[in-house]
Amino acid sequence: MSSSPREQLVSRDKRFVWHPYTPMEAYVRDAQPLVIERASGSRLFDVNGRSYIDGNASWWTSLLGHNHPRLVRALTEQAEKFCHTALAGITHEPAIDFAERIIARAPEGMSRVFFSDNGSTAVEAAIKLAAQYWVQQDKREKSLFLSLERAFHGETLGVTALGGVEAFRAPFAALTMPVLHLPSPALDEERALTVLSQTLREQASQIAALVLEPLIQGAGGMLMYSPVYLQRARELTEKYDVLLIVDEVFTGYGRTGPFWACEQAGITPDLLATAKGLSGGLLPFAATLATERVYEGFLGDSSRAFYYGHTYCGNPLGAAVAREVLQVYEEERIIEKAAQKALLLRERWEAWASLPGVSGVRCLGMCAALDLGEEGSTYLDPRGAQVCAAALRRGAYVRPLGSTLYVTPALNIPDEDLTELCDILEASLQEVL
Ligand SMILES: *Cc1c(COP(=O)(O)O)cnc(C)c1O
Repeated sequence: MSSSPREQLVSRDKRFVWHPYTPMEAYVRDAQPLVIERASGSRLFDVNGRSYIDGNASWWTSLLGHNHPRLVRALTEQAEKFCHTALAGITHEPAIDFAERIIARAPEGMSRVFFSDNGSTAVEAAIKLAAQYWVQQDKREKSLFLSLERAFHGETLGVTALGGVEAFRAPFAALTMPVLHLPSPALDEERALTVLSQTLREQASQIAALVLEPLIQGAGGMLMYSPVYLQRARELTEKYDVLLIVDEVFTGYGRTGPFWACEQAGITPDLLATAKGLSGGLLPFAATLATERVYEGFLGDSSRAFYYGHTYCGNPLGAAVAREVLQVYEEERIIEKAAQKALLLRERWEAWASLPGVSGVRCLGMCAALDLGEEGSTYLDPRGAQVCAAALRRGAYVRPLGSTLYVTPALNIPDEDLTELCDILEASLQEVL
């Protein structure tokens, strides 16, 4: 018996590929994965030629849509010149251009760019910078990090320790550094502020930095909180001489409205991690921005240098694409146009608040989420997956966070596609609930 090309691919996938965040036994037994052949704009096309609206911009990265022609051109033009060099004591124009341009767009007072290759390493570099900074200030005892319950900062061991989602941290508990997880402002802002200020008052002499996802805790369940907490966190960390590290890996590049979520609170952190949207979903690339104060903490003799780097940090292909991404944001007025689309998205989602079985509808910029049932999101809850499966049958690709359903479309998704995505989700919610 001959099977279709799709079936053959799936069978080889199930034989060899170990998928991330995936219970493999159930996957191999039951899954009917999408097999993607190409993508363009807001759409994915499978090997059978069927199109799906990409409701989460492929893991929150393709903020300008798939295969934006200008980004593909920037990539191929750079590839024809050279694809890689190291970045230690040798340099190149794409990295220099990008660094200059991202600083021009960065919160006022950020002045230096340290390159890495994904969101986890951008945050990992920030915590190592913070730790070494204090050692070189002769404040070695300032080595404890604060983060939030429900936080997600990536997968390397350092940032795993910062994570506040049990399922991601628990298996590695024996390996991770001690971190104080503070209450999330998304769950109770007043309590979060009280505990933050008390912790800093009592323990600042031991604390290196506070690490935050600004305004939206993404992987923790698209939990949203107000800029007031961010402002207070900045005031308090300044007052008690603790560094503030802001993880804009998900929220940066206009996801919450302005270019950085930090702008909504008018703050400048000491260190800012950015990845995902910065290379438009074309290839892994990341950066950690620092203020002059942090940078100067590493000047002096060679023993004070930051002995850290990744083989592909500042990779010219990534830098050339990231430079073009900034150009496209400017010339296509991405942020301004997304503001209109965000209104459309909000109007649709807010109307679902009254559906039975739906709670906690929340929207910020081009991000909309809701909870199915009463409880907050848990990773093992099947309801999100049921709605997403129904949506896939209707032609939209979305992934749940447990019982939380959310979308994070491309910022330039055509209005017709955004409307169709919402129509599909509405029908899928009605089918499942
Ligand atoms: C995705 C994400 C990361 C990790 O980025 P990777 O590129 O997957 O390593 C870190 N922080 C936040 C807020 C994220 O959303």
